[in-house]
Amino acid sequence: MRKFRMSNSRFQFSQFNIGTLKVLFGKRFQAYWRFLFAFSITLVLMKFNFDFVDSYLYDLRMRLKPTTNTSGLIETIAIDSQTLDKLHRSPNAVDHVELLKKLKAAQVKAVIYFIHPGEVVGSLEEQQEFANEAQSIEHFYIGINDVWPHSQDFAYLPHPPFQKIKTLSAPYTSDRKLGAKDDVTRRMITSFQGEDVLHTLIAKMIRNEKHSRELIKGEFSYYASKQVLIDFHPSKTYPQISFSNLVVPDSDFSEDSLQKRFKDKIVLIGRDIPTTVDDYVRTPYSRDVIAMSALELHANMLDTLILNTAIQNSPQWINLISTGLISLLTIYVVLTLAPSTGLLILLGALSIYTFFSILMFWIFHINIDLSHPLIAIFVCYYFFIPYRLIIENRKSWEYFEKNKLLVQVEELKTNFLSMMSHDLKTPLARIQGMADVVLSDTQSLSLKQKNALETIRKSADELIEFISSILNLGRIESKDLKLNLKSKDPNQIVEEVIQKYEFLANTKNIQIQKELEPMFSIKMDIDLMRQVLSNLLENAIKYSPENSKILVSTEERDGFVYIQFTDQGSGIQEEEIGQIFTKFYRSKKHKTSSIKGSGLGLYLAKYFVELHHGRITVDSSPGQGSSFSVELPVSDPEKL
Ligand code: ADP
Repeated sequence: MRKFRMSNSRFQFSQFNIGTLKVLFGKRFQAYWRFLFAFSITLVLMKFNFDFVDSYLYDLRMRLKPTTNTSGLIETIAIDSQTLDKLHRSPNAVDHVELLKKLKAAQVKAVIYFIHPGEVVGSLEEQQEFANEAQSIEHFYIGINDVWPHSQDFAYLPHPPFQKIKTLSAPYTSDRKLGAKDDVTRRMITSFQGEDVLHTLIAKMIRNEKHSRELIKGEFSYYASKQVLIDFHPSKTYPQISFSNLVVPDSDFSEDSLQKRFKDKIVLIGRDIPTTVDDYVRTPYSRDVIAMSALELHANMLDTLILNTAIQNSPQWINLISTGLISLLTIYVVLTLAPSTGLLILLGALSIYTFFSILMFWIFHINIDLSHPLIAIFVCYYFFIPYRLIIENRKSWEYFEKNKLLVQVEELKTNFLSMMSHDLKTPLARIQGMADVVLSDTQSLSLKQKNALETIRKSADELIEFISSILNLGRIESKDLKLNLKSKDPNQIVEEVIQKYEFLANTKNIQIQKELEPMFSIKMDIDLMRQVLSNLLENAIKYSPENSKILVSTEERDGFVYIQFTDQGSGIQEEEIGQIFTKFYRSKKHKTSSIKGSGLGLYLAKYFVELHHGRITVDSSPGQGSSFSVELPVSDPEKL
């Protein structure tokens, strides 16, 4: 009793704590708390840059992007390994003069050199001729991988004889010290200190011709420069011709084919010799140090501006809202849903968001922030899981305490019932005996007295039956029930049981039919089996209407003995079939009817049959009668 009181006070203490928690995190406050947490986490996260994750996801989307058309205006001529092989040296001033002559004849729009003409080998006269040839092309530029303040233009004046050729800043960048620091080229400078770089100037020239006055899309300020994100095409998208193919005597190109290929084109000339790593860049497509030649990169940069297809970063407020919403969803999911459902919902939301961002990248070239929402999920998840665990722990402790209490109550109940039953058994037997003694004296009793005595006798019988069920239940629960196995022909027990209940069946004019297949004896606990079969036959009679039939059949099949009781009674509702074998269960219909019962019969029957390694099954539907079947193994249950 003391123990009981102690656990009860502990239970109250836990309730107090949960009560306090409930006030703190009550329904009304919960929503505010969650919102506040989500908002704060979002604000904190937005303060950080997750460039590494960001750039990885950016590159992934770039790789997944379907390839788009180029402007078709760009041709590249490369001094490549093939050129060195064929000429047995680097092209000299004479070769360049020849190339420029051919390009001029083919009426190119512009020629851009990404190699400095001053570095080309040749005599003074040859170099002069090279310079003259270059000057005679209207749009001839030298692109230098550098930026310089406008005030220092003189510093980059080429040496004579190239001093009159326009030298423009054509820088390419990579995330070496800033951003993801992975040395990948993603951005390009469009202007430095307000001065357009070479790509911007050329693109504007082309777009002006096409009367396009659109601003450069996706341009953003970055220190002293303006930049855009390059709309990359996979490596080898732009047509490239080896320098040697144009200058050797047996060149593949006739005048006609040269004109066809180069007319009105912007021709980029540069190096593509993989021994010089500096002439290459890493791209979102590949992190290889020679993933793309600088020459091809310039083509990509130029085309991004000509086509105005730079990738645009989504506005900061969209990133803020999406991160906030995802944080809120994660907090809600972690705190309220079952872990597996929660995880599914989060994965679903994340997939939808990722898919949406991929679509926006593909269709509108918009780079939606993925890193912050993704990291928000992880942060919220790991932040709130411990909190959820505390709540769950408290709940299970509460259940545990309740359960303990219930078990104690159940124990008390069973103990009380078996004690009562035991003590009631002797006086009841005495009542039975005395009733029998008085009943045997048929002379001195009036009919009324005889009926009263018979009622006393019947009630005592019912009470004895109820008491023995309770005692059996006690035995089951204290687990001190051992099978007392003896060999017996199951048909004999069936016959005995039928005989016992014949009188009861006759009172309702119920006919019991037998179909008993002859069989050998099997080992079983005869007393327990008698109780099982008695209960089934008694139920069949109890729950059958007057003037109906009950079929009792036995057969032996596949190593099992089947004993079946089929009645034409009220039947059992489908939803109750699963419950009739549970302790104290009586169907709703019979609970209130005059048919008496404890609800223990089938529970005990199932337990006893299963002790024999057998099975008890029922097939029934309302109004169609019921068929209960007991299956017992032919072999010795103790050896199973
Ligand atoms: P009870 O003492 O109530 O008969 P049982 O455990 O033997 O307890 O049976 C449980 C319940 O199953 C009964 O209350 C009754 O509703 C239903 N039931 C059992 N046998 C039959 C039957 N032959 N026909 C219809 N209902 C039955």
